[in-house]
Amino acid sequence: MKVFKFGGASVKDASAIKNVASILERYKGNPIVIIISAMGKTTNALEAVINAHAKQTGNAHELYNEVKEHHYAVMRDLFDANDEVFTTINDTFVEGEWVLDEAPNEDYDYMYDQLVCMGELVSTRIVSAYLNKVGLKTQWLDARDVVITDNTYREGWVMWDKTKTNAQKTVPPMLANGGFVLTQGFIGSTTENFTTTLGREGSDYSAAIFAHCLDAESMTIWKDVPGVLNADPRLFENVIKLDRLSYKEAIEMTYYGATVIHPKTIKPLQNKSIPMFVKSFINPDGEGTEISSDTEDTYPPIVVVEKNQALLHISTLDYSFVAEHHMARLFDKLATQRIFVNSMQNTAISFTICVPNVADRIEKFCKEVSDEFKVKKESDLELVTIRHYTNETIENLKRGKVVLFEERIRNTMQMVVRNVPPIERRDVDLVGSKGL
Ligand code: ADP
Ligand code: ASP
Ligand code: MG
Repeated sequence: MKVFKFGGASVKDASAIKNVASILERYKGNPIVIIISAMGKTTNALEAVINAHAKQTGNAHELYNEVKEHHYAVMRDLFDANDEVFTTINDTFVEGEWVLDEAPNEDYDYMYDQLVCMGELVSTRIVSAYLNKVGLKTQWLDARDVVITDNTYREGWVMWDKTKTNAQKTVPPMLANGGFVLTQGFIGSTTENFTTTLGREGSDYSAAIFAHCLDAESMTIWKDVPGVLNADPRLFENVIKLDRLSYKEAIEMTYYGATVIHPKTIKPLQNKSIPMFVKSFINPDGEGTEISSDTEDTYPPIVVVEKNQALLHISTLDYSFVAEHHMARLFDKLATQRIFVNSMQNTAISFTICVPNVADRIEKFCKEVSDEFKVKKESDLELVTIRHYTNETIENLKRGKVVLFEERIRNTMQMVVRNVPPIERRDVDLVGSKGL
């Protein structure tokens, strides 16, 4: 069996869903587990609903109705008005309304997961009903009956043994009935049956969880790009497709923030030598990228840019050296606040780290260490990582930037940069009234 994953962009509207069906038509009769994300930007829209509910702004229901209406509009394009899918989707959305009808739960992350899962629950119901309508037999599976996590809401840690047992018990008999099995990315469940999520953009990871637990022969994620490119095409022109990548290179790229694949995706596949393909849902005949093998290839420079970074300059209040016990304490606090350190450097009495600029977590961290340390924060920065760098790539990337921090480790170069503000065109008479 194989695992396919279709992300938000590939199911964003009725014509996108029809395109997914046309891709799957090519695989009719094959045992495939299909993982689907929420449609388009639904997760962002649901986050707005959750925030409105948490802050009791009074418009949570209104925002939720907009999400619902967007789905109904897509459904009207795909189904006859009397199709039973409308009742199914109504019933699914009602579960979100129950959350909104209650007072906001004190545990924001818990409440978030109980509501945000609606995006995946409805998108998979819609796609599954459509595939059946066009003659592609598909059985819908609730991913929460398979993927079990701890209760770290919004970032659930997978309990692999339980998940493997569930997957092996549930999925093969469904596949044996013939047709596809279609389920949700991103969501899981605690052992007490509360919904959890695996972190934003986590559907790639869900696909890898299913592939690992079911010993899939391969996993394919269908994206709006021809494959993995040597940089994000939204930021750079002249990017090139990487035809093959080792697991290690893919892990490094995603660790440094290449958003094309969720960073947790590769490990479960590598551990079972399952090849992964990144292919275009726009051009399904394209070769895409194959991620397999542990042997290294030669690569062109690969660039990853992480925006919205901050540098934290941490120094001891009493001028004592930043020693190991200080580091231990600082890292302990960073871990509690779930602040991810992208890069670091230290001098005698100071220690500088580059972290994603998540203001509330950083504020809490600063408060927690303020008895011993002074923390100065610089925001609006970008972290640029270049794998397999050349001097020319570095020079090109430095143009128009102020470099605040730079580091080279073997074939990886990292720099934290700020964009040079455009010099204002000043209305100054440089020659004087008399002219030359
Ligand atoms: P999904 O629909 O599965 O959620 P994403 O939007 O998360 O897909 O990922 C695809 C996007 O990743 C592309 O549209 C592209 O802009 C971006 N991207 C970032 N880095 C790369 C890269 N190195 N190669 C290809 N795409 C990249
Ligand atoms: N729908 C979720 C998100 O937007 C998960 C995913 O798309 O991978 O974060
Ligand atoms: Mg995504």
